[in-house]
Amino acid sequence: MRLIVWVLLIGLAGGLTGYLFTRFETDVPKISTRTSVQWIGGEHRHEVRISDQGTGLESVRIWLEMAGAEYDIEAARYAGGLLGGADLNVPRLIEAVIDPLALGLSDGRATLHVEATDYSWIGNVAHESVPLMIDTRTPRIQLETGLTYVRRGGTELVVYTVDEDTQRDGVVLGDHFFPGFPHPSDPEKRVAFYAIPPDTPPDSLPSLLAADQAGNEASVAVRIEVIERSFPEDSLGLNEDFMRAKVTEIAGKAPALTSDESEDLLNAYLSINRDTRAENEATIAEVCSDSSEDRIWHGPFLQLPNSSVGSRFGARRTYRFGDREVDRQVHLGYDLASTSQAPVPAANDGVVVFADELGIYGNMVILDHGLGLFSMYGHLSNLGVEKGTLVSRGDELGHTGTTGLAGGDHLHFSMLVSGVFVDPLEWFDPKWIQEHIEVKFEISGS
Ligand SMILES: [Zn+2]
Repeated sequence: MRLIVWVLLIGLAGGLTGYLFTRFETDVPKISTRTSVQWIGGEHRHEVRISDQGTGLESVRIWLEMAGAEYDIEAARYAGGLLGGADLNVPRLIEAVIDPLALGLSDGRATLHVEATDYSWIGNVAHESVPLMIDTRTPRIQLETGLTYVRRGGTELVVYTVDEDTQRDGVVLGDHFFPGFPHPSDPEKRVAFYAIPPDTPPDSLPSLLAADQAGNEASVAVRIEVIERSFPEDSLGLNEDFMRAKVTEIAGKAPALTSDESEDLLNAYLSINRDTRAENEATIAEVCSDSSEDRIWHGPFLQLPNSSVGSRFGARRTYRFGDREVDRQVHLGYDLASTSQAPVPAANDGVVVFADELGIYGNMVILDHGLGLFSMYGHLSNLGVEKGTLVSRGDELGHTGTTGLAGGDHLHFSMLVSGVFVDPLEWFDPKWIQEHIEVKFEISGS
């Protein structure tokens, strides 16, 4: 009998010890949140995750501290009893809403505090703080360039200042974004090249955008007058030998042929002319979306020496097979023919950012000239440079050829502004460069 009492007592004491041990646990609640500086412009939802391993969460308090004042953001108490919190280990997700306007905050530094307690009788307290930067002011954009005349398919340059550091600034036109760069001769100013593509609607006009780190965004219209123009019409006759050779070369295999050989051949060719072309243009736009912050080019761009122009920029091409029209595409560069396998010089100083085979353009080189400006050389018979090389105007990039969708030996030459194809003709013209670009680079430099 006494043994049973002892066993019960020991058991009870053990249980009590275990209970006390549990209630006196020292596990501090765990707070997880982003702790890097948070820029806050408008209403901001800050996510905080809190959990406790030992006795469970008892309370959470979130407040904001700014210039000695405290602002309550969020407070919660969680149910518990003799055994501690009701939901052990269950993380609580809290979205702390910080609305500078509603809280009447002025701009400047602030700190978000998160404090959590648990049901331990020791009273574990966890604390986390997040540095905040309240910035509700919209950046101010000052345009330095006035009304400008831009030829359809051509390029222009806008000079501007923004009165605070930006996360993103540049020209927006339709779906295109042309990022801004430091002005080459005035560190206070910014410049952005932009293009008026051949195919955008007449009412699609450029505006200058500046967004700061807190997400405050300003936008002003860039005053331009678009000089509309017509683009040449080209007609291209397709024949089976050409299509068979190109499908084999570009698709990397002979076309699969069934009963109607010429229809199969045509479909395989059209898939390259449409799908591969679109993929290639997307790759080129991607390559030309990241440009050097330095102006690398100087003076007019070099046209392939002793060359005749086959097809011009923006030409509306109609593809015919027999007596049928089978496709339409827009030609986005200049076709320049010289002697067969003529050496191809770099049109200007630049960095090789692409030197590889690419679908319809065959062996191709792309040079980055800085500030968003690129030149591109297609259908080369060989690649004479490697990615990453700095070249000077006139340096040999390779030789003309017929790789990709080229009928005869020629160079396909394109110019791009932040991934958008533009008319190279302007860039061959020293007078245009002087009047449209150089004057704007000089204005504030002197
Ligand atoms: Zn071409």
